Amino acid sequence: MKGGSGSDPVPRLMRGAEPVEAVMVRYGEVFLKSERVKRRFVSTMAENIALALEAQGLAHRIETPRGRIIIYGDDPARIAAAAARVFGVVSASVCTVTKPEIGVITAAALERAERRLRPGMSFAVRARRSGVPGFSSQELAAAVGSAILERVDGARVDLTRPDYEVHVEAKEFGGLVYDDKIPGPGGLPYGTQGEVVSLLSAGIDSPVASWLMMRRGCRMLHLNMHGGRFGGVDVERNVLENHARLSSWVPGHALDLLVVDMEPFFEVITALKEPRYRCVLCKRFMLRVAGILAGEQGAHAIVTGDNLGQVASQTLANMAVISAATTLPLLRPLIGFDKEEVVGRARSIGTFEAHPGDVGCAVAPRYPSTAAPAETIARIEEEIDAPGLARRAAASVWRYRAKNGVLEEVG
Ligand code: ATP
Ligand code: MG
Repeated sequence: MKGGSGSDPVPRLMRGAEPVEAVMVRYGEVFLKSERVKRRFVSTMAENIALALEAQGLAHRIETPRGRIIIYGDDPARIAAAAARVFGVVSASVCTVTKPEIGVITAAALERAERRLRPGMSFAVRARRSGVPGFSSQELAAAVGSAILERVDGARVDLTRPDYEVHVEAKEFGGLVYDDKIPGPGGLPYGTQGEVVSLLSAGIDSPVASWLMMRRGCRMLHLNMHGGRFGGVDVERNVLENHARLSSWVPGHALDLLVVDMEPFFEVITALKEPRYRCVLCKRFMLRVAGILAGEQGAHAIVTGDNLGQVASQTLANMAVISAATTLPLLRPLIGFDKEEVVGRARSIGTFEAHPGDVGCAVAPRYPSTAAPAETIARIEEEIDAPGLARRAAASVWRYRAKNGVLEEVG
């Protein structure tokens, strides 16, 4: 079998194949789309699954019969695990694919149940049928249930809290039998929602914010503002690490990180006599640079890891003044999260670093203003020519590229 998603239009089962072990992928929200949009989203998801499998060297062939994605290959367990990390996927199961006939489905279900059911264990059969004439889903469930009762000593039926569940589905394209589900991340297929620029720091929040927008289908461009001598220790290493980790969630896609030098701006604002407004000036500067780069790259929005009330620059009053620095939509997916939720997410995403080094900001004043007046900010920015500083900063960027979790420097 060759790698890549085969384009054979005739489902394997229509050609009268024997039962075969494969992987079945479920998707959720994409179902709600119109037929045309759904076709596009499912095909993007299938392409992303193919890329994920290729990244691991897993030979495969993908079919997309109605409402499902079925993957054939030599190593269904590893295929299921890889597919269950692809955005848009609700869950993946190793399954037996058969002809849509009650006899062969029952035999396949019995084989799975015999592997897992022990005497004394309770079980339930969950049956579904659509587009297949000749029997109802209840009849299918009854056939499988009685076969199991007959063959497995001491097994008993419990439909409410069974120890073991076997799922059987009869669809027009074939029968599906499975008893395990690996949960996927859900969301929408990567690349279906256009590009965004995400402000990525060495902290815990922004990688989670990026991940959430990638899961929502946004093609991602990362932007980090490098503090130079004002930045903390190990910051750069952690940013690159976060970037590389995030790329492992979209295998086969190149994920770019732009790094911009913020030292000249910090030099200017640390020379001002009023330190209280530095954080607001800093965040507005980041948005100006992000806006310029978004325009150049064709991105449609800016993402940050802001979280209401977390620090002085994240009060409602300051967020209003900061947001006005750009005309692009500002996406703040973490705005209502509690810290624990963000940490939990960061752990499961793989970006949580227990010892991130000293990422503290040397420019932040001791007593930052929690409600910077817009007029004062406008006056200071005019004095220091903030737009000019932003243009100069955006004019020289370092580009790093990550793919499959591995970093390369592009320059
Ligand atoms: P994080 O919020 O990611 O943990 P942080 O706590 O250091 O990082 P905050 O002061 O909370 O940063 O900043 C809010 C948001 O501004 C961050 O979530 C991130 O999107 C952005 N940001 C902060 N510092 C940088 C930076 N050096 N480069 C790019 N974006 C940054
Ligand atoms: Mg933060």
